[in-house]
Amino acid sequence: MYVKGVGPKRAEDLQAKGLETAADLLTYAPFRYEDRSNVKPLSQLAPGEMATVLAEVASVHSPRFRRRNLQLIEVVFEDDSGRLTGKWFHQPYLSNVFTVGTRVALFGKVEFDTYRGELSMLHPEYEVLREDEEDDAALHTGRIVPIYEAAGKVSTKVLRSVLKRITDQLPALQDALPPHIRQRLKLPDLQAATRELHFPSPDADLRLLNAFRSPAQYRMIFEEFFWLETGMAVKRGQARTETGIAFELGDKAREQIKKMLPFKPTAAQKRVLGEIARDMATAAPMSRLLQGDVGSGKTIVAAQAGVIAVENGYQSAVLAPTEILAMQHYLYFKRIFEPLNYQVLPLTGSMSKKEKDFAKRAIASGFASIVVGTHAVLEEDVEFHKLGLAIIDEQHRFGVMQRKALQQKGVTPDVLVMTATPIPRTLALTIYGDLDVSIIDELPPGRKPVHTSHKTKLELEQVYSFILREVKSGRQAYIVYPVIEESENASERGLALKAAQAAYQELSKDVFPQLKVGLLHGKLPPPEKEAVMDAFKRGEIQVLVSTTVIEVGVDVPNATVMVIENAERFGLAQIHQLRGRVGRGAAQSYCVLVTDKLSDTGRERIRTLVDSNDGFYIAEMDLKLRGPGEFLGTRQSGLPTFRIGNLLRDREILELARSEAQGFVESPPSQQDLQQAMRYIRDNWQRRYGLALIG
Ligand code: ADP
Ligand code: MG
Repeated sequence: MYVKGVGPKRAEDLQAKGLETAADLLTYAPFRYEDRSNVKPLSQLAPGEMATVLAEVASVHSPRFRRRNLQLIEVVFEDDSGRLTGKWFHQPYLSNVFTVGTRVALFGKVEFDTYRGELSMLHPEYEVLREDEEDDAALHTGRIVPIYEAAGKVSTKVLRSVLKRITDQLPALQDALPPHIRQRLKLPDLQAATRELHFPSPDADLRLLNAFRSPAQYRMIFEEFFWLETGMAVKRGQARTETGIAFELGDKAREQIKKMLPFKPTAAQKRVLGEIARDMATAAPMSRLLQGDVGSGKTIVAAQAGVIAVENGYQSAVLAPTEILAMQHYLYFKRIFEPLNYQVLPLTGSMSKKEKDFAKRAIASGFASIVVGTHAVLEEDVEFHKLGLAIIDEQHRFGVMQRKALQQKGVTPDVLVMTATPIPRTLALTIYGDLDVSIIDELPPGRKPVHTSHKTKLELEQVYSFILREVKSGRQAYIVYPVIEESENASERGLALKAAQAAYQELSKDVFPQLKVGLLHGKLPPPEKEAVMDAFKRGEIQVLVSTTVIEVGVDVPNATVMVIENAERFGLAQIHQLRGRVGRGAAQSYCVLVTDKLSDTGRERIRTLVDSNDGFYIAEMDLKLRGPGEFLGTRQSGLPTFRIGNLLRDREILELARSEAQGFVESPPSQQDLQQAMRYIRDNWQRRYGLALIG
């Protein structure tokens, strides 16, 4: 569709925003609306009211002030009936905008300057009107006007004009939303909603509009989520039709699980294992997400699933995002499976060729029952004898892609994804929407919440003497210098490493000369890492200085103190995860957050951690304070970009869209309707959603 007013220059700017077609533009929702219906002649303005005026620039002044850094522009506007002064501070470029004779629309609060006895507006919204388009004034004033986020040099005003033209020539739009759903939810049809979205009718409710809850906006948000969730539901359904393995959960497996478990599982663990076992028993491959707070006992549940696979004669693979996590999981699984005599083998990129070859042979022959490793396990030349279950420890890092790679090895194995940190439900639904979800919402008994406090760098002495006391009574401590693991900034990682090394020197020589202090960081060769971790586990190291490599998986119940340096610089979820390394035994544990001076949000973030031990609550706060992209780490997060939907604001619409989508996919009016919907999603939404639906 050719749109007047969009030349090649503007087209380029629009394209950069993903706005390539008229259809794209129609989904580009205003982020705000202004009621400019109150248009008045200047002589009839009353101080205090919000008003829109149409006037011409009569003169422009820049008064000089004693304080030289104060820049003011005063513009005198007039119409046939009177005058008004507009004032702008610190916007010198406006003298180029308001040349004498320019016709403008101003929108703002009318003030009365008693000193000079004249009407004025301070920083009004303004729009320059063009003589050659007579309806220009009518479009930008005298109504509720949409305000768009500028696209490059394409201003809100241009967008408004362009959208006016598009909506005026709107051909009959095909409304793809299933009619029965639209009617039941009383959603306006696409045509009406599109018009209302951009140019609300005079009686529209401005407050609803600015809360994104007008019927038109609601429909558009719902639709954007609905098609995504429909795609996800279809994927969930497809997985169910693939041929997988129907595991048997016989007495032998039950006995073995009992033999392995060093404790009584919690009710939540039992329930979740039940969900997993049910999935495993059906022939369709499992795709399940296992969520739970730090220390809620996810790993042990995954291990139980592993027993079911092995007792049925299949192998299990455990995949971790980093070498060190893989090592930790390896040690954990080796220990936990000891009573069952399972062969547990590691396979990571840093192993020597000889070790790898040995591992590969053991995997291919079926000698290894449990393989724990990194991406290396997914490589082409790794042949499993009989892979039945893949346990993926995801930590937001394994993309959707890897899950696929694994599924392509022969029979589709069952897949259990564990997330290391709780993810707010809205995010889980959008990134992991193609998975069934199990949640462990209970901590093992006897856990005392970790007591968390905040100290500044100046109070470190206090922190050290506290560590000394705890160690003297037989406990152990971590001191962590966190790095953002996926930070692309190598120098930042280097800094944290240096900080940890320097601290190690100081702590071992000067602060705790009488204690055994150890150092752990990602750059250590794997055998040394393993040696350090083992020594800490055995209590031979009392204070462990570390970078964030210990984030996940370390399990030393005797450690009761977690000191986190530079806590202000890291995500709440990450710190919560670190804190989860203590509080694993019966004794009271402590977490100390050490920071520099804090900004206001910084203080808010630290307070959230001091006040709460609930990982799901903290994840929600983290999401609020940082936004979805940051929360997930921007690289390959798999998060779709929404045009109008907002995961923070629109969570209840997302939930509704998900359940409607599920219902639609399970029982569509006809199979044809479903197929049509899938075509429609592919043609219209795939590109906008980005990664989320690929595959
Ligand atoms: P997560 O992976 O969810 O962070 P883990 O599986 O590592 O948690 O378990 C945390 C700690 O709690 C481990 O020391 C584990 O042995 C212990 N644990 C797990 N479940 C129970 C339980 N039901 N009773 C007692 N201890 C448990
Ligand atoms: Mg764990």
